[in-house]
Amino acid sequence: MSTRRCVRCLLQEFDEDTYIRTLKKHIERTPAGDRAAPETYEKRLETCKGCDRLARGTCLACGCYVELRAASRRGRCPYEKW
Ligand code: SF4
Repeated sequence: MSTRRCVRCLLQEFDEDTYIRTLKKHIERTPAGDRAAPETYEKRLETCKGCDRLARGTCLACGCYVELRAASRRGRCPYEKW
């Protein structure tokens, strides 16, 4: 039996575990060539963690999920912090 999920749900409507799994899955499915290097990813997230625009995993400057943006090789901080 397959589990179907509403495609119009927001990530924030998921429970915490589903939210984290969905985020991880998305990052894992990003082609390796489009992904930021692991050390770059971690450095970016450390910067976000020290930023007052971070709220529950979301950047208040651009509305993105910072973990998704930081995972992309071409991802940029809207305030040029990384
Ligand atoms: S992406 Fe930039 S502005 Fe947004 S939370 Fe991270 S450091 Fe702050």
